[in-house]
Amino acid sequence: MQSRKIEFKTEINQLLDLMINSLYTHKEVFLRELISNSSDALDKLKLSSLINDDILQGDNTFKIKIIPDKDKKTLTVSDTGIGMTEEEVVKNLGTIAHSNTKEFIEKLKENSSENNFELIGQFGVGFYSAFMVADKVTVITRKAGSDNKAVKWESKADGFFLVEEAEKENRGTDVILHLKDDEIDFLNEWTIRELVKKYSDFIEYPIVMDVEKESTVVKGEKVIEEEVLNSRTAIWIRNKDEIKETEYCEFYKHISHDFNDPLEIIHYNVEGTVEFTALLFIPRKKPFNIHFTDYKFGPMLYVKRVQIMENCEDLLPPYLRFVKGVVETSDLPLNISRETFQNNRQAEIIKKNIVSKILDTLKKMKQNDFDKYLTFYKEFGKVLKEGIHLDFGKKEDIASLLLFESTKTEKGKFTDLEKYIENMKPDQEEIFYITGESRDKLENSPYLEAFKEKEFEVLFMTDEIDDFIMGSLLEYKGKKLKSVIKGDVKIQEEDKAKEKEFKGLLKFIKEQLKDKVEDVRISGRLKNSPCCIVAGEHDIDPQMAKIFEAMGQEVPKSKKTLEINPNHKLFTMLNNLYKDKKENEKLENFVKLLYEQALVLEGSKPENPVDFVNRIVDIMSENLETK
Ligand code: ADP
Repeated sequence: MQSRKIEFKTEINQLLDLMINSLYTHKEVFLRELISNSSDALDKLKLSSLINDDILQGDNTFKIKIIPDKDKKTLTVSDTGIGMTEEEVVKNLGTIAHSNTKEFIEKLKENSSENNFELIGQFGVGFYSAFMVADKVTVITRKAGSDNKAVKWESKADGFFLVEEAEKENRGTDVILHLKDDEIDFLNEWTIRELVKKYSDFIEYPIVMDVEKESTVVKGEKVIEEEVLNSRTAIWIRNKDEIKETEYCEFYKHISHDFNDPLEIIHYNVEGTVEFTALLFIPRKKPFNIHFTDYKFGPMLYVKRVQIMENCEDLLPPYLRFVKGVVETSDLPLNISRETFQNNRQAEIIKKNIVSKILDTLKKMKQNDFDKYLTFYKEFGKVLKEGIHLDFGKKEDIASLLLFESTKTEKGKFTDLEKYIENMKPDQEEIFYITGESRDKLENSPYLEAFKEKEFEVLFMTDEIDDFIMGSLLEYKGKKLKSVIKGDVKIQEEDKAKEKEFKGLLKFIKEQLKDKVEDVRISGRLKNSPCCIVAGEHDIDPQMAKIFEAMGQEVPKSKKTLEINPNHKLFTMLNNLYKDKKENEKLENFVKLLYEQALVLEGSKPENPVDFVNRIVDIMSENLETK
């Protein structure tokens, strides 16, 4: 066989150029990529040997050896896998098989180097990543089951590679990296150990290295021993019954960087159209950055014992982003990327299954170990709730998991929607709730007066997003959810009859407040307070409005309704004053004051606090003068 000098395909040159010149971070992943290729080659050999064990030629070694050579400044990754023929070498290490290489390279070009790393990881350009740390790469490979001939491939990433005949004693592939001068740290025993532990610990085959050890025979003498660097035990594929709780916890801490033990461990297998194993953890404490937009989540994804993604966001919806863990399957392609994930049916099935499993686990926890559930809920309830808005199909399941304090629970105790419905009064049709900052602030709200009188339970919703979430939920088990501070409430129908009696006064008030409120009406929700302001059924509630304003966003000014309590003696008196028609000026002033009081009750401020105070001072003085 003659030595041949072959030109790389254009896309490889582009790719090499980008890798060498624009990727500076995470160079270390080259080792993972090469080990992963070796592991694949061993898998292929294993598979072939099942059909025809002649291919092994009596050699049953399945291993990967890492050989650092400090003198030659080379790092070799050597495997006893399937190897390549000359033809295969030229094809495999001279072109890129992926169909979407072009788009990929375009993407690399327009991205920053930090994102490039992510992209490369997903694309799995594997072998070529060697050139991030080496200025020359030599591959010597011998196909399993063939005669003695081996092939040598060599390139300096200068647009060409050389292919020629070579000698190799056993089957498999040696990838020899001639390290760049500033990358020789990769020859360091401890660097290698660390990288193998970090990225390739769960590789099924032994990853070995020769290390110097103290002789056990002759004291003080050093001997060279081959040591296995990876533990090879993927905890998630082991039998559940044989795994100790502490082992689970250690593994959890390793993947989550959390110091606490997990709150819940979910470990299960699925067999059928899609087969996978999942080991998932619900943490005990909320990570500080869970509400940040760049929070990375999703389980690690392993395909055939090779780690494909560190955070597979496509397998977990954002509202379950607190869940950590691993998913392993052989039903996904090893080179699956973020882009191809979206249309992958198997991935979709796995995701669905995981979501159901997690929600189911939470449901059981809520039923069987409420204290534990409360620990969970206090940390992650707010995140979980987002699912009502994001996952239409699961919104009722998620709603069942929510907890609320209510007008009928003791402080610090909770009820849920299920119990709420059980306790509804016979003539009650809707699930009532009130939003606000805290239970303390809500408890004496005038908006609750008639509900208390009728003994209708009202849920306290004190998370900022609650009103928004309830707007997405709309109803639960056929019962509509209704905010007691919005829209018309028809629970005191008998009072509505008083409309006629107050017709003139209502009109007068409406005229006075025409710039401020849309309507003035008799209230169906007040018992003791004289009046209140009510938002429209579909308006943003005052709690949310405050958040938006704080974020500097413009909130559409919706006109509200002023409701008055016809049973309040104040209105009987005002009505008389109105009918008298003598002291209109005084009445005008009172109307303004009423409106301002209603604003205070709602939790807002009077538009002009000075005017408001002056009006009160006037009344006080007048009152004292007459004494
Ligand atoms: P990928 O692994 O994603 O296919 P790579 O660029 O890493 O892409 O490798 C290209 C091809 O070269 C592989 O698909 C495989 O056929 C071959 N190859 C790489 N490394 C080895 C190896 N150690 N043993 C046998 N074949 C290998």
